[in-house]
Amino acid sequence: MNDMLKKASEKLRNYNGKKVRIMEVCGTHTHEIMRLGIRKLLSENIELISGPGCPVCVTDEAFIEKAIFLSQEMRCTILSFGDLLRVPGGGKSLLLARAEGAKVEIVYSAIDSVKYAKAHPDEDCVFLSIGFETTVPGNLLAVKKAKELSLSNFSMLSAMKTMPGAYRLMARSTDAFLYPGHVCAITGTKELEELCKNGVSGVVSGFSPEELLSSILFCVDGLSKEKTFFKNLYPRVVTEEGSIEAKRLIAEMTVPFDSKWRGIGVIKDSGLALSNEYSFFDAEKRYEIPAFNERRETACRCGDVLTGRITPHDCPLFRKACTPENPVGACMVSSEGACSAYYDYGEIR
Ligand code: SF4
Repeated sequence: MNDMLKKASEKLRNYNGKKVRIMEVCGTHTHEIMRLGIRKLLSENIELISGPGCPVCVTDEAFIEKAIFLSQEMRCTILSFGDLLRVPGGGKSLLLARAEGAKVEIVYSAIDSVKYAKAHPDEDCVFLSIGFETTVPGNLLAVKKAKELSLSNFSMLSAMKTMPGAYRLMARSTDAFLYPGHVCAITGTKELEELCKNGVSGVVSGFSPEELLSSILFCVDGLSKEKTFFKNLYPRVVTEEGSIEAKRLIAEMTVPFDSKWRGIGVIKDSGLALSNEYSFFDAEKRYEIPAFNERRETACRCGDVLTGRITPHDCPLFRKACTPENPVGACMVSSEGACSAYYDYGEIR
């Protein structure tokens, strides 16, 4: 351990000020904090809670049901990132739909799904487009490519989301945020500075042990002074402006809508749908998809985990009925999900 790490971890271990809660919004932060054992280094007066920053975890159940409907009733080929296949929706998953005969293919990028559609002109291909500001530009470039190629057998089912509404909603659950470095690389920091003016504290954090510990320490120091603060502690990647090119693409190709986040509810203007110019590629417009509003009762407490009300340990299904091999909720599916990170690296109670 280098000197900086030693000093920071000593300060954080010996902290005996008022109790503080810090939310790591990003799933990669959650994963790294668990993997590095950072929670165990902290004074009991510092609580780290996991937030809604894993796109797989917050993808609504109805989205999975729509994808299953498209695969089974409309006989579409579903093209998806692998994690999403195991996410439950309406008592089923895309993996199960595939076992029942649906055509569901794993892709590693949005552009791969365009290549697949081009190579399979007899199949109606639907790409499941999830992700936050980091992933959205790549997904949109794929749609641009499909348009360029005049692909009539390609469309996109969108569960793309943006973070600012979630910060505002989650501000009630935490004293300060560790803002997601990758998302901020696209969005820049202006909105976060505005949030700070409205009483929301936080720092943009990187992902190395040094960056994580110094970000937590900055929050703890700031909270002890009882002043609202904001600091970009990831300046080698994040700028005030963010990625102008990516933001221009998002503004040009999408329109915001009120999107439902799994376990959290609807967040105003937090979803991104394709704009009119690209609506030919919008699966919601191309196919008649029924509304999937019926919710089944489940003991899964993903919503409480994602809003920092409980830790995965407090869910009665954790490590019992719910494991990475047999996930009951989405937070156990992706390696960036809080339940999955606690399962892999957390202490067993
Ligand atoms: S442990 Fe499983 S059932 Fe419990 S909240 Fe996490 S994902 Fe849901």
